[in-house]
Amino acid sequence: MTPSLSTTGVPAVRWGTPPPGREAVDNGGAEGSPDVDEQRPHRRGATGEAMTGWDSELDRVLGAKTAKALNGAFGMTTAGDLLRHYPRRYAERGELTPIGGLEIGEHATVLARVERVSKRKMRSRKGTILQARITDGTRSMSCTFFNQAWRERELLPGRRGMFAGKVTAYRSELQLAHPEYQLFTEEDSDEQGAAREFASALIPVYPASQGVPSWSLARCVDQVLSGWDGVVDPLPESLRERIGVLGLDAALRRIHQPEDLAQVEQAKYRLKWDEALGVQLSLAQSREQRGARPAPACPPRQDGLAAAFEAELPFTLTAGQLEVGERIAEDLAHEHPMNRLVQGEVGSGKTVVALRAMLQVIDSGRQAAMLAPTEVLAAQHARSLRELLGEFSGAGELGASDRATKVTLLTGSLSAAQRKQALLDAASGSAGIVVGTHALIQDGVSFADLGMVVVDEQHRFGVEQRDALRVRAGERSCPHLLVMTATPIPRTVAMTVFGDLRTSALRELPNGRSPIGTTVVPTAEKPSWLERAWQRVREEVEAGHQIYVVCSRVGDESGSGARETTSGEDAEQRSPVTVLELAEELGAGPLEGLRLGVLHGRLASEDKDSVMRSFAAGEIDVLVATTVVEVGVDVPNATMMVIMDADRFGTSQLHQLRGRVGRGASPGLCLLVSEAVSQTPARNRLEAVASTTDGFELARLDLQQRREGDVLGAAQSGKKSTLRVLSLVHDEELIAEARAEAEEFVRQDPELSSHPGLAAMVAELVAEERAEFLEKA
Ligand code: ADP
Ligand code: MG
Repeated sequence: MTPSLSTTGVPAVRWGTPPPGREAVDNGGAEGSPDVDEQRPHRRGATGEAMTGWDSELDRVLGAKTAKALNGAFGMTTAGDLLRHYPRRYAERGELTPIGGLEIGEHATVLARVERVSKRKMRSRKGTILQARITDGTRSMSCTFFNQAWRERELLPGRRGMFAGKVTAYRSELQLAHPEYQLFTEEDSDEQGAAREFASALIPVYPASQGVPSWSLARCVDQVLSGWDGVVDPLPESLRERIGVLGLDAALRRIHQPEDLAQVEQAKYRLKWDEALGVQLSLAQSREQRGARPAPACPPRQDGLAAAFEAELPFTLTAGQLEVGERIAEDLAHEHPMNRLVQGEVGSGKTVVALRAMLQVIDSGRQAAMLAPTEVLAAQHARSLRELLGEFSGAGELGASDRATKVTLLTGSLSAAQRKQALLDAASGSAGIVVGTHALIQDGVSFADLGMVVVDEQHRFGVEQRDALRVRAGERSCPHLLVMTATPIPRTVAMTVFGDLRTSALRELPNGRSPIGTTVVPTAEKPSWLERAWQRVREEVEAGHQIYVVCSRVGDESGSGARETTSGEDAEQRSPVTVLELAEELGAGPLEGLRLGVLHGRLASEDKDSVMRSFAAGEIDVLVATTVVEVGVDVPNATMMVIMDADRFGTSQLHQLRGRVGRGASPGLCLLVSEAVSQTPARNRLEAVASTTDGFELARLDLQQRREGDVLGAAQSGKKSTLRVLSLVHDEELIAEARAEAEEFVRQDPELSSHPGLAAMVAELVAEERAEFLEKA
């Protein structure tokens, strides 16, 4: 597989390691040009002791105990890993962290002032509880210590310090349970005073973890930098001059130990370039390789199936559909593989746009494959494609047009005989369109001549799978790619930012459909609104409509649905409402007498189908479900959705979910039920979702709220992040510049053999990508 952003994303950028197969060259310490491959991780200092370099093992530099803690908390093994762990932000001396901005469950580092300390005996067991209230000047929170009464002597009112720990809530008050802390000395808090603990005037605040607070990381970094031998700069000097960036060593020092914020900015700018350029070089190289694998040119025909289909279309295409259609038609006519994203609200009519494109491909004697994230959705797509096609589907069947093609469904749950037939349809070419889930890309599925892949990217569709399918098309040709989405997943947004996916938007809804109204129901502040919500559900049912109620958990199992308590004797967080509990409660209470159904992933496949069928047939009024309704459900009569514990869902996910309602003539209503209190990040996020239905805007919001670095890598798996300083939202210009530079480098020297530093950056990306790919297999 070719390395590309769209395959498994872009892993961590690291340097100092020669690309595989290239031996490190020791040129005896002569100062070579920065472009010369002179990797010497363990050069000896003047006194003969080993200096610290990129690949120095942390246990040698920092000692076994510290190294083990860093490895356990962050998976770091080398000095380079540590230096790539950048501060999240910088605090000014004397600054206090706004306590209102903390999120329950996060590990936070708080700069605060001790307000008061109290001590009491524990009732249940022997011992004392020491409670320190710390304040940001406006709000306060408590820190709890068990059997550490002696801390009273140092936690004196008025003293400032850094407190680190997991944020929990107890009786609707924020607290840090047994935090670690470091109090500033008098001089530290004195504005004129010399900084003792920290080398610079700014205090770096690192992403920290239990057992490894921010200030320990700062000390480790300081230790590494004090014996630092430097690292070979992977960027050619001429490039550094052209774009005006610091050398890598200077950038690393300044990001960790800046004297002022200007230094931070300079350092970040340089490190951003590295990240952007690494990705863009990798993309440019795979484009170069793809260029050698042309796409099948499928020019439009006036006398083909596409034209015949259009003549019979029961509605007029919207202006947006026509415009996007033209772009696609043009793209398909070329040998250059299309990479296009069609973004449009749910109900904006993306399917017919995709179908027209597929027919153009069929008209040139090739096939199209359409991928959906679930079997239900694949089946639904096959059905709606056949419906749209009418007499033009079901080739060979009675009543079909003689121009007709065949739409074949290929999913994992087919019987052996059905599967055999479907495989035959694909391989023989008798199916012009093959619709399926990832089962489509399993071994044994081959196509006679695959010209285009359409991906319906609802949430959670594996990007790897999409690319694997493209690979199936054979060694020598690369099918065109069309991605359809309502809310692009963050990685898709990333691909558009990096310039590897062109975007077209469908902005209008056909026949004046009204968009969904969304309201937050804040149960902590307005408990009565929830009752009102259930009342509203009844009214909606009385008006002949149907309703979804979505919960984040199924319930009734050991672990996930049951009690979920946070650590600490005093800490507690309400566990989420579950499908099973809520269905029972509603049936016996506010929704008594209505026909309730239950749907979740633990039901057997047939049971799921049968519940969905009853709901679609209008035999169920209210469907209490997990996110299985997120995709693949199209019940136009469903007009309302109530999402419980809405703060537990991601931004894009909420948008996808609410897209299930308002698909018919009546307007849709979505209620986001949450205990999140006003002005907290969780609540702000819900308000943002309620305030717009623009999918792209929400996707960008989502990007901004995630740690952006997680977007390209093994998303959300908590693994090392890939983009640490580069922001997909704010650095578009830099990313575009990096693209131009990367293209030029690769054009002149496809293998980058005259730039070993750059080649090493790419090799590192590719190596990690393979490792990731193997892990997944
Ligand atoms: P989505 O963008 O959510 O995939 P669909 O493609 O499923 O939307 O379209 C929603 C519905 O609107 C379908 O029933 C489709 O046939 C219909 N539709 C699509 N385009 C038009 C149009 N131009 N005029 C009227 N109805 C349309
Ligand atoms: Mg659709």
